[in-house]
Amino acid sequence: MRPKTQVIHAGIFGDEFTGSVSVPIYQTSTYKQEAVGKTKGYDYSRSGNPTRHALEVLIQELEHGKAGFAFGSGMAAISSVLMLLNSGDHLVITDDVYGGTFRVIDKVFKRLGISATFVDTSAPENIEKAITAKTKALYLETPTNPLLKVTDIREASKIAHQHGLLLIVDNTFATPYWQHPLDLGADIVLHSATKYIGGHSDVVAGLVAVASNELAERLYFVQNSVGAVPGPQDAWLLVRGIKTLGLRMEQVEKNANQIAKFLEAHPKVKKVYYPGLESHPGHNLAAKQASGFGGMISFDVGDEKTVNQILSKTHFFTLAESLGAVESLISVPAKMTHASIPKPRRDELGITDGLIRLSVGIEDAEDLIEDLEQALS
Ligand SMILES: *Cc1c(COP(=O)(O)O)cnc(C)c1O
Repeated sequence: MRPKTQVIHAGIFGDEFTGSVSVPIYQTSTYKQEAVGKTKGYDYSRSGNPTRHALEVLIQELEHGKAGFAFGSGMAAISSVLMLLNSGDHLVITDDVYGGTFRVIDKVFKRLGISATFVDTSAPENIEKAITAKTKALYLETPTNPLLKVTDIREASKIAHQHGLLLIVDNTFATPYWQHPLDLGADIVLHSATKYIGGHSDVVAGLVAVASNELAERLYFVQNSVGAVPGPQDAWLLVRGIKTLGLRMEQVEKNANQIAKFLEAHPKVKKVYYPGLESHPGHNLAAKQASGFGGMISFDVGDEKTVNQILSKTHFFTLAESLGAVESLISVPAKMTHASIPKPRRDELGITDGLIRLSVGIEDAEDLIEDLEQALS
């Protein structure tokens, strides 16, 4: 099955009881038992729900995993995966991860005795150096947010497995349409499904797929025990959103390529971060390990004043947090998504006050470019 066919035909088709082509929304918390313990496979919706199940089978198949899991947000997915670790364990993690991931590790998991070292994983020797006797997992985001740094997943998986570590990859930016971390050696792949997978800025959710039955059992135990699950309505919105993932990603990337080239040639733009540009340090690696470069572009205009001018003048780029939906969004990572990272650390990473991040939507590229052109003038 080719990718655009797979997003339509993977998972569970419709409803066997009625012939409904769309998976129904099973808005129920509990299920009638014929006798004590005699069920049709469901007994309580925290433990399992047919609409959520359709979504979980779908993400399992799209990510080439052994099992899939749905959560109430990307952070719920990340936190539930981190709960596979024990107090005293150590984690090596990409340094410019999503701000919320940094915060939950630095402020919550640290308090529970799980420590972490943040390194630039795009240079594999940094991973090796950060591993200690207590390290139990390597956590990657690739491409990263907002600087689009690319880490070699296959190389990282070799290092992780030599040291007996679990390799966890946040695949939110690339999506299962472009990149399959489990095929490259990862043990767990996770998503903020709020972004490209949902694709319409109307649902907050998270998804995970795992590479082994053993991990599936352990993660199911956490999912059912902690209970950070999405409701059936949100699960249904994701199943619906995924159907157009292929069409959306193709259009998003076509637009992003044109916009990145336009920005790179613009005299007011100091620097453009987009893996699809040959000037990007991760370009060749991104081309090798993924089949597309995605729709996220960051660019530096040097100072806050220019940033504010651009923000006030764009019409088609909505100023908002989040990314990955049909409409184009614009944001200032230092003030918005990455505000929870202390300023000295932000400057160290390159997340300056002059940095703008675009989430390119599926509008006509010409309109988006004309909009940026007048905003920059
Ligand atoms: C948004 C995001 C998250 C967090 O997901 P939520 O759905 O907002 O909880 C995690 N990782 C990345 C890369 C994200 O963009």
